[in-house]
This record gives sequence, structure tokens and C-alpha cells, in this order.
Amino acid sequence: DESEWARFDVEPEAEESTGPPPQPVLAVVGRPNVGKSTLVNRLLGRREAVVQDTPGVTRDRVAYDALWNGRRFTVVDTGGWEPDAKGLQASVAAQAELAMNTADAVLLVVDAQVGATATEEAVARVLRRSERPVLVAANKVDDERTMAEVHSLWSLGLGEPLPVSGLHGRGSGDLLDRVLESFPATPREKIGGSGGPRRVALVGKPNVGKSSLLNRLTGEERSVVHEAAGTTVDPVDSLVELDGELWRFVDTAGLRKRVKTASGTEYYASLRTKSAIEAAEVAIVLIDGSQPLSEQDLRVITMVVEAGRALVIAYNKWDLVDDDRRRQLEKEIDRELVRVRWAERVNVSARTGRAVAKLAPTLRTALESWDTRIPTGRLNGWLSDLVAANPPPVRSGKQPKILFATQAHTRPPTLVLFTTGFLEAGYRRFIERKFRETFGFVGSPVRISVRVRE
Ligand code: GDP
Ligand code: GDP
Repeated sequence: DESEWARFDVEPEAEESTGPPPQPVLAVVGRPNVGKSTLVNRLLGRREAVVQDTPGVTRDRVAYDALWNGRRFTVVDTGGWEPDAKGLQASVAAQAELAMNTADAVLLVVDAQVGATATEEAVARVLRRSERPVLVAANKVDDERTMAEVHSLWSLGLGEPLPVSGLHGRGSGDLLDRVLESFPATPREKIGGSGGPRRVALVGKPNVGKSSLLNRLTGEERSVVHEAAGTTVDPVDSLVELDGELWRFVDTAGLRKRVKTASGTEYYASLRTKSAIEAAEVAIVLIDGSQPLSEQDLRVITMVVEAGRALVIAYNKWDLVDDDRRRQLEKEIDRELVRVRWAERVNVSARTGRAVAKLAPTLRTALESWDTRIPTGRLNGWLSDLVAANPPPVRSGKQPKILFATQAHTRPPTLVLFTTGFLEAGYRRFIERKFRETFGFVGSPVRISVRVRE
């Protein structure tokens, strides 16, 4: 009856975000050679400069964690604008759109010694429509003489140009103050989830092809620039654009090293894997499809499930998989992967690029499930029908009753069942299976916890 229910009223807790709290994101945009990298390094407080003197060298998007006045934020270097097939203007507009759509604030860097070119005017037109704050850094203001040029940048219509010298550090503290002031009080709500790009862990035992796949996804030999003369500190994460969306691949520093350190003991590798999974919302567990499924593969999958993260299983090296191996593999799946039947599997080849385009949609599906909440009324309607048809097994002469259920959490979805007695593991699994049959939750673990009312 109603008064009974009231005692079990569980406040659905505030949407709980696992992993680190979302940090505001600053996207840095600008033409090649205006000094973005020099400035980013300055903002990060590093002396080492990630500078490539060859004009036209594309750097891919990378994310760095920054700290200023006790506040953490993420700096995304969007790389140089390279004229693509559609021409420079189109490429610039696309970069600016991407920055506006993914960041909490945008920093447009202009070379004050050159002034605003047609390219900057084009990007300013895009950025003026931004709902997010836009700051203009007038870079290469090494001395007073260049100050006059700074004022001419008011013409971009983006507010006060902020003079700075990435090379000498002049003005960078003031710029950082302005950046922090510009961030909204709460980071932007990403469409469909938490702030910023969704966080992905690419994990798996050694030699399954993680580095190869990351390279394939970023579409280039990405480490070239960053390894120049060993001057750079590795950014922790990689931003990867898949299917028109930015994804944050967490803790990829180790994967990007051209020459990987052979020193990684298994214990150490497993710690790294664990921390990457913890930092992510969804994990791609990569398995070498050409080899028999191993204990180590299963361990990585278990880590993901236990951490409560969404899961995609990718069989790599599919170019080496023949009919015999495929039959064997299907048996392994039936035998060993029943526990994670709910996870989508994709068969890819980092070498040939086979099916890598399928990763983004499966990641999206998994995250959508991970974020889903079934309203309490609907859940209980479904559960009472289920329990009426299949009551819990009797234990010590008593029939436990399920009084009420609620989905107390998302990320991962967690059901809490309020009962009058203990529910056996087998029956809980039955409920989970039926729950998935009705509500889906493809790609996400589902937890069921039971609270017994004596
Ligand atoms: P990016 O392509 O926009 O990332 O530009 P870089 O950071 O690679 O810098 C391009 C060139 O501008 C390099 O030769 C830098 O040394 C130089 N540069 C960067 N910042 C400054 C600055 O504040 N003053 C001067 N004079 N040169 C700078
Ligand atoms: P990681 O240790 O998981 O980062 O694995 P690597 O990316 O270093 O790859 C290990 C080895 O597998 C390398 O020799 C790669 O060239 C090879 N490899 C990676 N992906 C594929 C693939 O899709 N097909 C084939 N045939 N070989 C691959």
C-alpha cells in the first residue's frame, strides 16, 4: 500500500558521472604559424616548446590538461588549418565550427605582426555566431612596437584583442585570467551527456594492435611532430574525430610512442589498463582475432565490466582470420563470452582499415545505453508482470516478494530491488536477462542490487 512505498522512496540520485569531473574545455584555433603551439606550451607552463618550423605541418588535435589559479581545464589544440579538398576557407570554417560545438570557450590566435588576413576574417564571421565566449589573442607582441597592430584586431568584431607573446611569455598570465573568467560556471552540457567529448579507453593485452588502430583512427603517423628532438611532454589523451564527432581517447601517451618501451611488466601494464578504464566512459577491448582467445583478454573484459563502463569488443587483425579460425572463434565466443553477450562485437583490421568505421556507431549505442534511465513507473509495471509469471524461488519455506524497483543510477544503469527476502543469483540473472530483452541496454553492463526489508 501507499504508506509502505513511501518508506522505500529512493531519491533518484543526481546523475552520477564516473571518472574525473568534466573540466571546461578551451579550443585554440588559428592559421598555421601564428604561434598556437608556442602559446599552448606557454599556457601549460612548460618550457619545452612543441614547435615545428616547417610551415604546413599538420598537427592533429590533442588535448592537454592545464591548471591555472587552482582551476583545472583542458586545452585543445585544433592544429593548423590546412586547405583541404574544399579549400582553405572551408577547412577554416569547419575547424571553427568544431571548436564552437565542442568547447566551452574558443581562443582565436592571430599573428599581430601580420595582422588579420582574409582567413581570420572568414573565421571571425563563423565565430561571431558562437554561443560560447570567444577570445582573441594577438600573438607575437614581443615588445611595445607591435602594440599598435593589436588595436587593429578590434576589426574582427570579437571584442578586445589580448596582446601576448608566446615566445617570451609576455601577457600570458593576463590571458589565462581572461580564459578562466570566460568559462561558464558549469561546463557545457554535451548533447546527450556530460561535458566535452566522450571518453574512450582503447585497451587490450600487448600486441593486439592498439597503437596500430589508434594510428589508423587518427589517419596519420601522428607521433612524428611530437617526437621531434624529444622536446615534448606527451599529452595524456588524444582527440580523435570519428564519424563527424570528437572522441577523447584517454591515456594514449604510451600508445603513441613510436618505439615502445619493452619494460612494461604485466603488472604495470595491467595498472595502466585499469586507470585508462577508470578515466573512460566506454572501453574498446581489442582482441587479436587471429589468435586463440586468452585468459588475459578475458581479464581486460572483466576489468571493464567491474568498473561499470560501457563496452565494445573489437576483434582486430581480421585480415588474418580464415574460415577455420572463424569457426574456432565462434566457439570461443559461445563458451567464453556469454557473460558479455550484451556487448557489440566488431571485426576490424587496423592494417587494412576494414570496418573501423563501425566503431563510432557501436560506441554511441553503448554510451546511449549507459546513460539510459527507465522511469520508475514503467520499470515497476514491467517487473510486476514478470514476477507474477515467474515468482522468485522459495527459500526455507518462504517466498520472497519483490515490493518495488527503481533504477537508482545510470552510468552504469543500476536497478535496486526492494524485497522481503534474499534473491538468488540465478534469479537476479534471470531478471537481468528479461530486463535486457525488454529495454535493450546493448553495450552497457547493468547492475542489480537487492535491499531486503526484514
Ligand atoms: P602554430 O603553427 O600556430 O602552432 O605556430 P608555432 O607555435 O609552431 O609557431 C610558428 C613560429 O612562430 C615559430 O617559428 C615560433 O618560434 C614563432 N613564434 C611563436 N610565438 C611567437 C612570439 O610570441 N613571438 C615571435 N617573435 N615568434 C613567435
Ligand atoms: P599494441 O601492443 O596493442 O599497441 O600492438 P601494435 O599496434 O604495436 O601491433 C602489434 C603488431 O601487430 C604489429 O606488428 C602490427 O603491425 C600488427 N598488427 C596490428 N594490427 C594489425 C592488423 O589489423 N592486421 C595485421 N595483420 N597485423 C596487425
